[in-house]
Amino acid sequence: MVQEAVGNDEDLQKELVYQVAQYGETAEALRWAHFYKVDKKDWPYNVRLLEENPDGNRPQQKLQQSSQQNEESWDDEIQQAEQVEYHKLPLPPNDVFLIDSVVKFESFLDTGLQDVDIVGVDCEWKPSFGSHLNELALMQIATRKNVFVLDIVNLGNKAPHLWQELGKFLFNNCDILKLGEIPLRSTKGGPSLSTLVNHCLGRPLDKSDQFSNWEKRPLRESQVTYAALDAYCLIQVYDILKRCCEEVEFPFEEVCYNLMTNEKVHRKKPKKVGNKKKQNDNPNKEIPQPASPHPAPVPAGKVKLVCDTMLQGLGKKLRSCGIDSAILETHDDHMLCVKYAQDENRYVLTKGFKRSKCDNVEEQLREVIDYYKIIVTKDHVFSRCQACNGNNFVKISRSTMNTLLTVSEANLAPPPPCLYEDEATGFSSEDDYEEAAPPVSLTRKWELYPDEKIDVGLCQTRLGHKIQVKAVPTPIISKYDFFYVCEECGKVYWDGSHFERVLSGRLQGIVQ
Ligand SMILES: [Zn+2]
Repeated sequence: MVQEAVGNDEDLQKELVYQVAQYGETAEALRWAHFYKVDKKDWPYNVRLLEENPDGNRPQQKLQQSSQQNEESWDDEIQQAEQVEYHKLPLPPNDVFLIDSVVKFESFLDTGLQDVDIVGVDCEWKPSFGSHLNELALMQIATRKNVFVLDIVNLGNKAPHLWQELGKFLFNNCDILKLGEIPLRSTKGGPSLSTLVNHCLGRPLDKSDQFSNWEKRPLRESQVTYAALDAYCLIQVYDILKRCCEEVEFPFEEVCYNLMTNEKVHRKKPKKVGNKKKQNDNPNKEIPQPASPHPAPVPAGKVKLVCDTMLQGLGKKLRSCGIDSAILETHDDHMLCVKYAQDENRYVLTKGFKRSKCDNVEEQLREVIDYYKIIVTKDHVFSRCQACNGNNFVKISRSTMNTLLTVSEANLAPPPPCLYEDEATGFSSEDDYEEAAPPVSLTRKWELYPDEKIDVGLCQTRLGHKIQVKAVPTPIISKYDFFYVCEECGKVYWDGSHFERVLSGRLQGIVQ
């Protein structure tokens, strides 16, 4: 294709040799230099060197060798790429029609679009090299049952009346929904159709035929399959997106309509024809929950969740019940929830702005525990650090606490965050002070390590986190015999007398 684009233009021929040599393909550049009979004085230096000394052992020769190695590893990459499982056309080959004659075009118009209400449309152009745009080579029209690959190169202008009919039956027909891919030409590239297909259908598209000569005839079978799938997958992606939206009662069609008409998504719903049931007419109407993923009750220690930014308070409450809860930071992207869900097998808890029924954190906690059928026992309560979700604590004595206090004062360490920092960062809780207290009386599932598991001299946990001794009020240190240091963040907890009070108070009905 490059050869064709360069043609007889001597400047472009020289440029081609120069560019190929620039990319380290010296031998290939030499081949083209000979092919175009480029004047030797215009040859790049390393190309001339290779010509004069094909078996030489000079540094430039190494360049060529390394380019050969690159070539080999590039082949390896291709071989590896071939092992990737790609999304495949689910239709049998007989259902893909190459329309390359007027007769076939007529028969496609007669029968191909009967009873069709949705099509995927895609086109292929021969790649152009900047100077001019090539003409359309293929147009693929996919229905649910068939894909019609219109060979524009062969059909051309042979039958203008048939193209008019296609316009009338398909493109001018409001009863057929047309799906297409809009190339988003941003400088960053942006997500491709292949990425979307991978997200929706589990496998990416094989793009190895994308950069091929779509004007050359006959087309390779792989080219036709590639072209057919590019149009057909649009219907598959559409179906998946529509179903997912319907499952969560997201107004899919409304958003599609708004995107197409460029109107803001929150605009009033247009009056629609059809029998669609009214959605979200009543803002107070509760959104029905899908069924719980747990058919039977599960212990708190077995459940893993991630809380979206709107549910940070709930996340801390969940941790206080011993439930493994990741919490997004205020400025995190919501999509981070999805990453947590995928990487760590967590259920995502999120909350819209509108729904106001469950703004109370205690109610949210109850709702989550009921929904996931979580069993919280006394052993679970306060078994996780509310600051960092860690569940390993070092038990230390009062005398160690006093030593640590002396050490940290001597080190003139910057003051650690105070006990009430949580409130300052938006974790609402009127009794955080009370909660900083795992009960000592219970037999813990999680381990409490003896004193030597911390670095007293550095006032650090063995994971290197500063122990926040200064956050503990002096009267508390003299009152209690033991303290518990979170290994993962250094926060210090102590035994409280309020544990039973919490159980019979706000955790009533939650702890079994
Ligand atoms: Zn912690």
